[in-house]
Amino acid sequence: MTGKEKAQRNKEELVKLLDEGYSTKEACKKLGVSRKTMDGYKRDLGLPTETADKKQKAFQLLSEGKTYQLVSEELSISITTAWKYANELGKSVSKTQKAKDSVGQRYKMLVCTSLVERDAGKKQRALFDCDCGTKNHEASLSSVKSGQKSCGCMKGKPKHGLSGTKTYNCWNKMRERTKPGFYNAKDYFERGIVIEDSRWDDYLNFLKDMGERPKGLTLERINNDKGYYKENCKWATRKEQQANRRCSKRPSNKPK
Ligand SMILES: [Zn+2]
Repeated sequence: MTGKEKAQRNKEELVKLLDEGYSTKEACKKLGVSRKTMDGYKRDLGLPTETADKKQKAFQLLSEGKTYQLVSEELSISITTAWKYANELGKSVSKTQKAKDSVGQRYKMLVCTSLVERDAGKKQRALFDCDCGTKNHEASLSSVKSGQKSCGCMKGKPKHGLSGTKTYNCWNKMRERTKPGFYNAKDYFERGIVIEDSRWDDYLNFLKDMGERPKGLTLERINNDKGYYKENCKWATRKEQQANRRCSKRPSNKPK
């Protein structure tokens, strides 16, 4: 089957799924396509895209006076996007609000944990936890937002195998996916899909076990119902990963 034929078949299948009451997210899983591909299908079919849906939902929540933090979590969009939507609605987002919203956000290796009381005329400073284990590192919020990567632990270290590499990003994404606060936690944390090897809290152990990520491959769990540990993980193509997903039976695949 050519790519074109496959897309055509997927689109027909999508119309059926939506008719049957599947959500867009569930349809993505059923068809094994990314949300971006899904948006493309929907555009071609003249259906409202996920982005349009989200924007509308965001407008509604913001009009109800919901916080940017909540809008960001609810719709799994970044805080910056939530601010952008607010601006489009005619709400200006103050600097103070922006600073407040940064608490809990991740910037490269740093997660903002709290704000430091601001001296008049000085830059807003905040406390951060760094992936290296350093807690309460104080830094200016704006320099972290504009690119400061770590608490300083990465300064002068070779790039190889560390922050910013594809393998590192994979490890970081895996950690985010398995947290209870992840937007799709029902497919991970709530199903017991967690990092089962505490050695993997340290990126270097992960790197030692899995090796550098080969180009074009992603981290896959061999048994989809088990968590992340060396024996259950391999680098696989996206195709293999999707085949694995399709085989797995999930309650969320059933229409409500
Ligand atoms: Zn650090």
